[in-house]
Amino acid sequence: MRKVNGYVAHSAKEALVPFTFERREVGAKDVQIEILFCGVCHSDLHTARNEWQNTVYPVVPGHEIVGRVTAVGANVKAFKVGDLAGVGCLSDSCRVCPDCADGLEQYCDQEIFTYNSPDKYTGKMTYGGYSNQIITDEHFVLRIPTKLDLAAVAPLLCAGITTYSPLRHWKVGPGSKVGIVGLGGLGHMAVKLAHAMGAHVVLFTTSPNKIEDAKRLGADDVVISKNPDEMKKHLKSFDFILNTVAASHNLDVFTELLKRDGTMCLNGVPEFSHPSPSIFNLIFKRRQIAGSLIGGIKETQEMLDFCAEHNITSDIEIIAMKDVNEAYERMLKGDVKYRFVIDMSTLKVL
Ligand code: NAP
Ligand code: ZN
Ligand code: ZN
Repeated sequence: MRKVNGYVAHSAKEALVPFTFERREVGAKDVQIEILFCGVCHSDLHTARNEWQNTVYPVVPGHEIVGRVTAVGANVKAFKVGDLAGVGCLSDSCRVCPDCADGLEQYCDQEIFTYNSPDKYTGKMTYGGYSNQIITDEHFVLRIPTKLDLAAVAPLLCAGITTYSPLRHWKVGPGSKVGIVGLGGLGHMAVKLAHAMGAHVVLFTTSPNKIEDAKRLGADDVVISKNPDEMKKHLKSFDFILNTVAASHNLDVFTELLKRDGTMCLNGVPEFSHPSPSIFNLIFKRRQIAGSLIGGIKETQEMLDFCAEHNITSDIEIIAMKDVNEAYERMLKGDVKYRFVIDMSTLKVL
């Protein structure tokens, strides 16, 4: 076991504080990464505050991890010391079930998340990227394109793949009219990715001060979702809507914007469920409401390569580790353009 420094939540009501914990030794198939940057996802906040009622404390959040390889096990083939590497939300899975065989490890019943999952190596829980080092099986380690800004790549490991996967699954491309709901960490990546895929992109926001930014990021049109007249102009016109909102809200105002057979996919996982959707809105045009969870490892690599090809990264604000609690408060107010990323060199060795 080796000592690692990080930041931890000890309970739902307490601020995150410095923490020292143990990680396993580097196994034959493991990659050891010195973490250089870690994005701050809204899921980190939901988990730190036990909003999904599944948090096991102490919890070390963080699943948008990039850094440099500092050691590899004897059987590791794809990485060597000095390489850039990334770890996202997934750290392990059963490897044999149909989901794993299809490269969809995120849907494996035995998936192990990067934090707040049982850790078979330590007997504790997995601890995430708000720390200076991580050790992960190479199957779950991503190659990071060297041409992109490293700090701005970190959010691709969750916000990027979580939006890329449904956009691909529902075949978004030239000729599709796509709605993105919410311009936060996930939403701003969705706008960039859907634009790069060639779709006509409409951003729905509750924040009038984000209109100009949304256009700069690639939206063809921006709609204030609280304005019924603006919403009406788009009735029955969308092939696909990706909803990234982190709070409970009325879904009907969006389902009625879908064409026949259109789908709204939910990415957001709010603390409280959405009110039940109108069945009439669904049956009259055979519309669907779906959900999507992050993405598999193969698709995450595909997304990173797509981003390198199209020069896409996240718009970020770099913070020091000690400022993560303030960052959580600002994220709740929508006061970030559009992802906080922790510079891990600011994590003082305890
Ligand atoms: P975020 O940066 O906080 O963005 C959420 C956006 O939702 C905000 O920017 C805001 O956009 C909108 N919003 C927030 N409160 C709202 C309210 N009361 N009413 C209407 N809109 C509101 O969060 P994120 O990191 O992008 O994460 C978004 C959600 O996705 C979270 O619930 C997170 O846990 C979840 N998530 C899911 C997966 C998955 O695999 N499915 C993966 C990662 C994250 P506007 O200001 O533009 O309205
Ligand atoms: Zn996340
Ligand atoms: Zn499996």
